[in-house]
Amino acid sequence: MSKFWSKVVHGLTPYTPGEQVQMPGLVKLNTNENPYGPSPKAIAAMQAAAGDGLRKYSDPSNAVVKDAVARRFGLTREQVFVGNSSDEVLAHTFHALLKHDLPLLAPDISYSFYPTYCSLYGIECLQVPLNERFEINIADYNQPCGAIIIANPNAPTGIGLSLEQIEALVAAHPEQVVVIDEAYVDFGGQSAAALLGRYDNLLVIQTLSKSRSLAGLRVGFAVGHPDLIAGLERVKNSFNCYPLGQVQQAGAVAALDDVAYTEQTSNAIIASRAWLTAQLQALGFEVLPSQANFIFARHPQHDGAQLAKGLRERAILVRHFTAERINQFLRISIGTDEECSKLVDALKLILA
Ligand SMILES: *Cc1c(COP(=O)(O)O)cnc(C)c1O
Repeated sequence: MSKFWSKVVHGLTPYTPGEQVQMPGLVKLNTNENPYGPSPKAIAAMQAAAGDGLRKYSDPSNAVVKDAVARRFGLTREQVFVGNSSDEVLAHTFHALLKHDLPLLAPDISYSFYPTYCSLYGIECLQVPLNERFEINIADYNQPCGAIIIANPNAPTGIGLSLEQIEALVAAHPEQVVVIDEAYVDFGGQSAAALLGRYDNLLVIQTLSKSRSLAGLRVGFAVGHPDLIAGLERVKNSFNCYPLGQVQQAGAVAALDDVAYTEQTSNAIIASRAWLTAQLQALGFEVLPSQANFIFARHPQHDGAQLAKGLRERAILVRHFTAERINQFLRISIGTDEECSKLVDALKLILA
């Protein structure tokens, strides 16, 4: 606390990210990082960009990245917004598009940065409970609101909605912006970007952190109607004109263009997820059906916090949340096959 803080600072509850611990031999399955590393083409492009050109400011319009996203989705540059991580894109979205007289609707269990942005920007948020199977029921969103945000697949449950369900949600709210946060969509979900030609109220946000294995590069983007994008550009250019440096721009373009590498590594993660799910079920865990690069699992006879602690003592980190409805679950990122095996072996010892 300081008397020098502005009023808003006193009221903030900052987001707590998963720990980034350095420990030899650590199996780190707590922050949904991709175990396979970025595309070699992205690394080469970044090395080539790390030269004398850094003396100049980067292109403030991020044109090359926008064009790479546009190529990927069959869109135009005017339908693309780029930011320094999807967290930054989300922050600008809350500020530019989600602050209205009526409350924002979001699931009660979802990405916990959403309530944080609401408190930062003074947005009233109404949390809509997931059903008893931890699913989003889109009919529950048929109520007066200023805007809607959901993650699809949702986090930390991993459960996805179909494109038909997303379209029904977007179509039911033509006067509200509907934001779909697709951080995990490449691991088995369907992107709502396919709907963009038909709806001017839809904004889809993605990141290069998960399926492109570039969490450390900090690049995210949004796609939507040019009017929504123009609103985001206004906020961005009132905040930081150069959120991406040249190295980031070069790496992002190469990663977005290396579609084969993304598919190959994402498919490997999907296969490991199926294996790990079966192994945990055999140990008595209930595992929610995941379309993400993590699974959300609980054991009917073993406390979630205790399991997380036992794993930690064996140098395996998973994420445990203390929120009431989910405090018996562990969120486990899908690692390499070797890391997944180590996790299963450790759980066998802990459960015995
Ligand atoms: C990881 C994650 C993000 C943030 O991704 P960054 O681009 O690394 O900031 C956004 N939304 C959800 C649901 C996530 O899990």
